[in-house]
Amino acid sequence: MPTALVTGVTGQDGAYLSQLLLAKGYRVIGLMRRSASSDVIGERLRWLGILKDVELVDGNLTDLSSLIRVLSVYKPDEVYNLAAQSFVAASWQQPLLTGNVTGLGAANVLEAVRLIKPDARFYQASSSEMYGLIQEPKQSETTPFYPRSPYAAAKLYAHWMTVNYRESFGMHASSGILFNHESPLRGIEFVTRKVTDGVARIKLGLATELPLGNLNATRDWGHARDYVQAMHLMLQQKVPDDYVIATGRTTSIRDLCIIAFSHVGLNWEEHVTTRADLIRPAEVDVLLGDSTKAQTTLGWKPETTLEMMVAEMVEADLARHRTRMAS
Ligand code: NDP
Ligand code: GDP
Repeated sequence: MPTALVTGVTGQDGAYLSQLLLAKGYRVIGLMRRSASSDVIGERLRWLGILKDVELVDGNLTDLSSLIRVLSVYKPDEVYNLAAQSFVAASWQQPLLTGNVTGLGAANVLEAVRLIKPDARFYQASSSEMYGLIQEPKQSETTPFYPRSPYAAAKLYAHWMTVNYRESFGMHASSGILFNHESPLRGIEFVTRKVTDGVARIKLGLATELPLGNLNATRDWGHARDYVQAMHLMLQQKVPDDYVIATGRTTSIRDLCIIAFSHVGLNWEEHVTTRADLIRPAEVDVLLGDSTKAQTTLGWKPETTLEMMVAEMVEADLARHRTRMAS
């Protein structure tokens, strides 16, 4: 039975990846940072019905000693580094923490792997945010980067450290440059989930208004369940490499609103307002990925359309609010 260590196991991707790895017969060790709210921390794993199947261990990306200890004890075959301060907007409020966790934290994991289990296969959660001010209309592995936030700058450091450890030490280290991916388990602060939760609350009479920021930005949105499959596939390749994972379709926040509100028969224009304080200091206007390399080399392709995903998310948020209202 292969062993996988997943950092960021309590997040959206950590939950879906753990579900996939468990189904494939892996022993899954999930790195979890200590929290005073430990009763709610495993919520996503519980939602997928796998909380008891993942072995949770204490550790923090900023504490190299904790990573060394976990690697020494479990000697994983595969390490997926998903942990990060992952919210772009928050990275302007906490730029140094973002650098520490999202950037240096990844270097800590790489260093722990190099010292303790150098033959382990390593996955880094890189991000399309690294393209920022886009240099090509469709972004692929060869498109130059231009980060536009402290988050993106930290991710770029982690990305190049992954490349560097591969080239310097011959480690099987790969980066997935994932475009935005969402699900009912997406954090409520991200725009897709904020919209689907808002639609559910408005539909149920719990709210009338949904304040948003820039409606003109466009994103290439896929489903997290599809994207974690690409992470696993990358580590099954003979040769480590970097891959763009995207759907190849970009949609504005405005059009996202139209899709989500019309799913429950509402007119978005009667509810969505714009608020200046939700506009970011620097914006990533457009993201559109070219995942040809992943499709040809990994045999990966996205299965879920934006419409299917938004419908799943709105239904899940309706169900959550109905349960809360009934209790
Ligand atoms: P989430 O924000 O849902 O999860 C982040 C995880 O990191 C959580 O488990 C969080 O723990 C953990 N974490 C944060 N700080 C630390 C720390 N100091 N030590 C240990 N763990 C920590 O992110 P997603 O699941 O959406 O994304 C997974 C990864 O992929 C992230 O690195 C993200 O930046 C990257 N990514 C995501 C994309 C997306 O669209 N979802 C696109 C491209 C890249 P806690 O629960 O305690 O907060
Ligand atoms: P990101 O691409 O990782 O930053 O993912 P987000 O879901 O946080 O943001 C996607 C886009 O939606 C960005 O261009 C935001 O400026 C835009 N956006 C517009 N209104 C909002 C909002 O209220 N919340 C968030 N999170 N994003 C918003």
